[in-house]
Amino acid sequence: MTTRTLLLLPGDGIGPEAMAEVRKIIAYMNAERGAGFTTDEGLVGGCAYDAHGAAISEGDMEKALAADAVLFGAVGGPKWDAVPYEVRPEAGLLRLRKDLKLFANLRPAICYPALASASSLKPELVEGLDILIVRELTGGVYFGEPKEIIDLGNGQKRGIDTQVYDTYEIERIAGVAFELARTRRNRVCSMEKRNVMKSGVLWNQVVTETHKRSYSDVQLDHMLADAGGMQLVRAPKQFDVIVTDNLFGDMLSDVAAMLTGSLGMLPSASLGAPDPKTGKRKALYEPVHGSAPDIAGKGIANPIAMIASFAMCLRYSFNLVEDADRLEQAIAEVLDSGIRTGDIMAEGCRQVGTAEMGDAILTAFRKHYA
Ligand code: NAD
Repeated sequence: MTTRTLLLLPGDGIGPEAMAEVRKIIAYMNAERGAGFTTDEGLVGGCAYDAHGAAISEGDMEKALAADAVLFGAVGGPKWDAVPYEVRPEAGLLRLRKDLKLFANLRPAICYPALASASSLKPELVEGLDILIVRELTGGVYFGEPKEIIDLGNGQKRGIDTQVYDTYEIERIAGVAFELARTRRNRVCSMEKRNVMKSGVLWNQVVTETHKRSYSDVQLDHMLADAGGMQLVRAPKQFDVIVTDNLFGDMLSDVAAMLTGSLGMLPSASLGAPDPKTGKRKALYEPVHGSAPDIAGKGIANPIAMIASFAMCLRYSFNLVEDADRLEQAIAEVLDSGIRTGDIMAEGCRQVGTAEMGDAILTAFRKHYA
């Protein structure tokens, strides 16, 4: 039987509550679908600091490196606001991204029909929206050197960040975008600022060459990133896959995300390069939201972002595409039936807690196999 190894890192705040709902789905898939998941657990964030004095222990890092995929809940909270910077809760997530070499961040923006009215845009602009933003995650201006504040000695200081990209970094993120587009509607829009940035000129050239060399069956368009931001709120459904750098991707994916309503709905995946021997990619799946300390422990958090992150894991780490589709359909069906957590509550719907939402999704998921 296939063995699939998962490391669960629920983290802090609502992380463990949301992860509990994914555990139910894993248990069902193992017991009744023979999925063969073996799960291990670890600590990350504030809870890891309390236990080990670090945002993630070396032991848990080893487990993450050995697992086929990592499922991450959320980290942080006021309890750890004053801990030293190097061991703050977020350092655990940054360490995972760095050591697993997760260079591709995938943020889908899907608008479930039942939630179209919750968007800040008109329902007809977002209903049925399904776009995927592929953001370069380990390069660009967040990491480029020099990165410093220098004293100019005349009462002035100078803050410096450096936007830097090498050919291989652009090639590999473009490759991920083109490959994903082939599994979707086969279109990629690359966004940069080639009109004012040298790194944008190179980005444009390398994406164009990568396309010509290996992916000419995919439709490629280029857009300046500022125009892209405008088009995302004007007519978001024109896009399929958007590929962009770390900085623009950070902003554009947040814009795209909010088209779909609540933070509690948004999944994400971060992927590394395929292992040359096994072809497997290191991967981490996490909801976009944080630890939501204001509602933690109350049993009212929306588990959909976490469950949809697991659906991405089924699709991208285990190639269980049909199961991923069914899980996403189950989420859509539950929303259609009028069941809602507090964050997405609307008139005429029935408000439920975290566990009840998870149970409803599991029940709908099981029906797909009946
Ligand atoms: P947040 O995402 O935790 O919460 C923002 C608001 O959205 C809150 O009102 C919260 O109740 C609500 N919300 C978020 N997720 C929800 C869900 N699943 N269901 C219902 N409501 C939900 O962001 P924040 O308040 O800015 O940050 C809280 C803590 O989380 C901070 O310590 C921050 O550093 C951390 N954080 C962690 C991550 C991560 O782990 N990846 C991401 C962002 C923030």
